[in-house]
Amino acid sequence: MNNTISIDKIRNIGLTAHIDAGKTTVTERILFFTGKRHKLGEVHDGEAVMDWMVQEQERGITITSAATTTHWLDHQINIIDTPGHVDFTAEVERSLRVLDGTVALFCAVGGVQPQSETVWHQAEKYSVPRLAFINKMDRAGADFDRVVEEIKDEFGANAVPIVIPLIENEEFVGIIDLVDMQATYYDEAPQGSILRKEPIPETHLKRAEEAREIMIERVSEQDDELMELFINGAPAKKDAVMRAIRAATIKNELIPVLCGAAFKNKGIRKLLDAIVAYLPSPIDRPPVIDCRSDIDREIIRRPDDSAPLAALAYKIAADRHMGKITYIRVYSGILKSGDTVYNSSRDKKQRVGRLFLMHANKQTAIEELHAGGVGAVVGLSETGTGDTICSKEHPIVLETIEFPAPVISVAVTPESRPDRDKLSSALSRLAEEDPTFTVKTNKESGEYVISGMGELHIEIIVDRLLREFMVNVTVGQPQVAYRETILGSVEFENKLVKQTGGHGQYAHIKFRLEPGNHGSGFQFNNEIKGGRVPREYIPAVERGFIDAMTKGPYAGFPMVDIQAVLYDGSYHEVDSSENAFRTCSRNGFKDACKKAGLQLLEPIMNVEVTTPEEFTGSVSGNLCSKRGRIIGMETRGKVSIISGEVPLAQMFGYSTEIRTITSGRGNFSMHFDHYEAVPFSLAEEIVAQRLEKEK
Ligand code: GDP
Repeated sequence: MNNTISIDKIRNIGLTAHIDAGKTTVTERILFFTGKRHKLGEVHDGEAVMDWMVQEQERGITITSAATTTHWLDHQINIIDTPGHVDFTAEVERSLRVLDGTVALFCAVGGVQPQSETVWHQAEKYSVPRLAFINKMDRAGADFDRVVEEIKDEFGANAVPIVIPLIENEEFVGIIDLVDMQATYYDEAPQGSILRKEPIPETHLKRAEEAREIMIERVSEQDDELMELFINGAPAKKDAVMRAIRAATIKNELIPVLCGAAFKNKGIRKLLDAIVAYLPSPIDRPPVIDCRSDIDREIIRRPDDSAPLAALAYKIAADRHMGKITYIRVYSGILKSGDTVYNSSRDKKQRVGRLFLMHANKQTAIEELHAGGVGAVVGLSETGTGDTICSKEHPIVLETIEFPAPVISVAVTPESRPDRDKLSSALSRLAEEDPTFTVKTNKESGEYVISGMGELHIEIIVDRLLREFMVNVTVGQPQVAYRETILGSVEFENKLVKQTGGHGQYAHIKFRLEPGNHGSGFQFNNEIKGGRVPREYIPAVERGFIDAMTKGPYAGFPMVDIQAVLYDGSYHEVDSSENAFRTCSRNGFKDACKKAGLQLLEPIMNVEVTTPEEFTGSVSGNLCSKRGRIIGMETRGKVSIISGEVPLAQMFGYSTEIRTITSGRGNFSMHFDHYEAVPFSLAEEIVAQRLEKEK
């Protein structure tokens, strides 16, 4: 099958939401309504959504596929999965990289919640255009206007309703569309909703006209033509209004707001219309750029089939039937099944096996994936998350997807012999899927140490081991992933001389170490002049430094945030070798670090607690007692939201603790924020314990 939809008809979108706002329900409903072919404005029969879901679930509906392709009107919508939980911010960031627009979901009762803020700001960081959908309008206490105000206040966003809810006898019965000034009623049928369009009822007309005027005014601010009409009091045509809304949304200057009740099948078709009408297609987004710093000209790729291939692998998944699947977004050119392509991130040729579009309940094999498309590839054996796939003749390296290093580790031991046999391959499959999860083996004890982004992350992995791979494991105590770094700058000289008859060893280097910026890892600069250390030995010096950094001299934790500059040295015609330089730099680095002074770093978590107001004092007192800092406190209704930064080491078992403190009524979420120095006396204790254990 050929996937030759025109690029302006593609929408690569994600749905972001606070947990419980209805993301699963909205996605299911979107898949249901798009699975049936409707024409806009058609009057529908009662639609058996629930029946459909039961059937689909039996056949294996996947709404969590990394890309689900579906169609609405004559457009192709690719829904890119964006996980809801903040423990997985890395996952959210990854999906934001490859999508062109998002729908931010809110609950009409709960409104803007702390977690929706995190995701909102991430979308802002990548300048992803957004629609807002206020869900659960059928619930008691639903308040459309209040949530719109919250989006404006909390996010400073130019949120403008393009529909308003139609409430009759305190019941949410439909939607008034402010663009075409029509009312859409959703008559509830036993298993779905029937859609009926009518003129706006007299009783709602004034409110609708006021709301439309506000909408036109706000949209006009972004569109001169419309502004002129508005100033002259002339009526604006539907097309012109839609064009202006689209342009402003794509420029990130406007957030159109819609509403509905997904559970009752209300408002979903209107949302789909808006996705098609207002969210960008790949050609509305800026071209991708080459991120290599060592090339002197700017290389960009426009979303065009005739340009050289540039694509990004954004997710790896292990499929029981198909094996390793790589989800990929093509930015330019055409990816063809059977072609040999170039992985520029790893300097490797790769053969494209089969290509697929993933749907809710099936996959379709395709021959080609065109510019702007998103699909799944089988056969890219050596491609990882964040790698660029391009043509060998026209290489480009797209910015990779950055994932934070894991901050927590636990030992897992297989419970039985058969478990032991399966464990290793199960863990490596999981690690390949998830870049924030790593596995190490302790060869002596046969024990595996797995590391991730938090206790919840580890729990999910252990649960997947059991459910997907049928492996039982015993899980040890969680350990904090400490790091080491240097306190100050230092200059150092090291010489390796061994002259023992025959071939000896000789290496001599002078270098400087400086503390690097937070999160900078390791940076190496070569300032050798006049070949005092021959060029072929320089990489060996760098490798020696990197070797030494895997096990710091303070307590054996990995080292981070160090800049090394190699500026002088000497060599011997016969006795020098790569090995000699590598050994010399490894040993020299350790001694230099000791001279510079060492400090221990620990992961600091961003913690957000939601609790009934009466527990505010005890919750914040407790966080402070954990060496935490309170950074924000706010009250919404009867609920307090306390945010703070707390060392991970103090947060183990917090879910039980928070239940005790708040009589079971508080909730919390947390995610890794940054590394920070451990207070000296505590560091000494941690180091002593670690050394004791290693004995
Ligand atoms: P997610 O956590 O964001 O994926 O949310 P879900 O889709 O699982 O929904 C959370 C809960 O809200 C479920 O019990 C849903 O049935 C319910 N829900 C979702 N949409 C609506 C809605 O429009 N109205 C009402 N009353 N409940 C809804």
